[in-house]
Amino acid sequence: MERPHPHEGAAALARAWSALVATARRTVSDGLVVGTSGNVSVRVGDTVLVTPSGVPYDRLGPDDAVGVDLAGRQVLGGLKPTSELPMHLAVYRDTRAAAVVHTHAVHATAVSTLVPELPPIHYMTQALGGPVRVAPYALYGSEELAENMREALRDRTACLLQNHGTMTHGASLDEAYDRTAQLEWMCRVWLAARSAPGHEPSLLSDEQLREAGEKLSGYGQR
Ligand code: 13P
Ligand code: ZN
Repeated sequence: MERPHPHEGAAALARAWSALVATARRTVSDGLVVGTSGNVSVRVGDTVLVTPSGVPYDRLGPDDAVGVDLAGRQVLGGLKPTSELPMHLAVYRDTRAAAVVHTHAVHATAVSTLVPELPPIHYMTQALGGPVRVAPYALYGSEELAENMREALRDRTACLLQNHGTMTHGASLDEAYDRTAQLEWMCRVWLAARSAPGHEPSLLSDEQLREAGEKLSGYGQR
C-alpha cells in the first residue's frame, strides 16, 4: 500500500474518524443498538479506527480517535478499543473490506436464536452474497466468536451472531451500514411472515436467487 504524506495521512484519519462517529451515532438513532452496544470500524491504509469500548457515541469528539494496527496494537488515542476487536480485525485480514458494523438489531438478534441460517425470503438475500448464516454462540469479545464469525462470513458480506446480533462489512461505512439495515429489514420480514398462523412463508429457490444476484450487479444508476 502506498504511504501517504504524513499530513495527508492525518487529514484522512480525521475525516474517517468523523465519518465513523456519524455511523456509530446512526446505529443508535435508527434503533439498531441501545446505549453503547455495538461497534464500528473503518480502515485507513494500515490503520483501523474503532469505536472505544463502552463510551456513548454522542460523547465522542475529534480528539477521541482510537486506532490499532492489523495486529491489534494501539497506534492512536488513549481510550480502550472496542471489546470486539478480534472480530473487526479478522474481517480486515480476510477481506478487502474498508468498514465493519456490528449491532444488536432487534429482529436480527431474534432470528439468530431460531435458525442456523436466515431463510431466503427476499431477493435482497443475494445483495449480501447469499443466505445469511448464523455464527454459533461464543462469549462476546472472544477469539472463539471471531473464529465462528469468520466461517459464517465466508463468501458473504453479512452474518448473524447467535443470541447476540449482526456483523456486516463493506467498501465504505455507508455500504457496511446499509447492509446492516437491509439485513435487519429482511429478518423483520421473515419473522412477520412466519408468525401468520397456519401459514409457512414461501422461499426463493437457488435459481431465483442466482437470477436476482445477476440483475442486482447492474442495479441503480450507471
Ligand atoms: P464495546 O462497547 O466494547 O464495543 O462492546 C459492545 C458490544 O456490542 C460487544 O459485543
Ligand atoms: Zn455486541
